[in-house]
Amino acid sequence: MTDLPARRLLLVHAHPDDESINNGATMARYAAEGALVTLVTCTLGEEGEVIPPALAHLAADRDDTLGPHRRGELAAAMRALGVTDHRFLGGPGRYRDSGMMGTEQNHRPGAFWSADLDEAAGHLVDVIREVRPQVLVTYDPDGGYGHPDHIQAHRVATRAAQLAADAAHRPGSAPHTVAKVYWNRVPRSVAEKAFAALRADAPDAFGGIAAIEDVPGVVNDAFVTTLVDGAGYEGAKAAAMRAHATQIAVQEPYFALSNDLGQPLFTVEYYELVTGEPGPAGAPTAELEHDLFAGVTGAGR
Ligand SMILES: [Zn+2]
Repeated sequence: MTDLPARRLLLVHAHPDDESINNGATMARYAAEGALVTLVTCTLGEEGEVIPPALAHLAADRDDTLGPHRRGELAAAMRALGVTDHRFLGGPGRYRDSGMMGTEQNHRPGAFWSADLDEAAGHLVDVIREVRPQVLVTYDPDGGYGHPDHIQAHRVATRAAQLAADAAHRPGSAPHTVAKVYWNRVPRSVAEKAFAALRADAPDAFGGIAAIEDVPGVVNDAFVTTLVDGAGYEGAKAAAMRAHATQIAVQEPYFALSNDLGQPLFTVEYYELVTGEPGPAGAPTAELEHDLFAGVTGAGR
């Protein structure tokens, strides 16, 4: 336990690629600053659509080998971000991608959406008690945009943080209380400005332009408590997103998913603190925290 770095950040995501899109700059920055950055991905993303025609055979309705392929993409993305601790919840393939809400994949054997909550959370309790993160980042209760695996990732992360802190739960391992829990956010004003820039600068970069509602976690600005400025890590984030080539087409500072609708690639990343005390705000945006570890005892650099 004494060998752990002073700052420890845990991120819980549904599929390979979500971490790079939502938190790539944050992860690269904290890893470069010497923090322990631990990523737990809940599924292999087996049900994703495949962008490159040459790889179309990987898809679930053909060879169904997208999961193993995406493990490789995630490993490459983590190299780009400088993150060495990445794991799959319960081990690779323990939980399968549940597909979009309302599809039959939601209820197939092994689907993450159908997982027992406490069993799934138990795997994450082990990780929390091992790496003892002060900060946990995950999605809001809607999963940012309603995907069942994102909703379930929120539930599992929230439940695991509770159980890990409870000394009566599995007394064989030492309890750990996560000091701060954040949800991924994008302030509506930031999204609107970025989409306006996309419409003006690169209207034809992709087959169309996404709607603001397509961006996970967009909320009214008042909900946002924290930003992490990814200046200097733009290239790392873009490289990590490119590594997820079956899922993402990147044309900096924009990207598209398999729907070929352009959206902004944010290199300032935003959060809502939902558990724990906010630390001091950072200039120049004096009302927002600029560090996920702000105010955390013993997490100085
Ligand atoms: Zn996802």
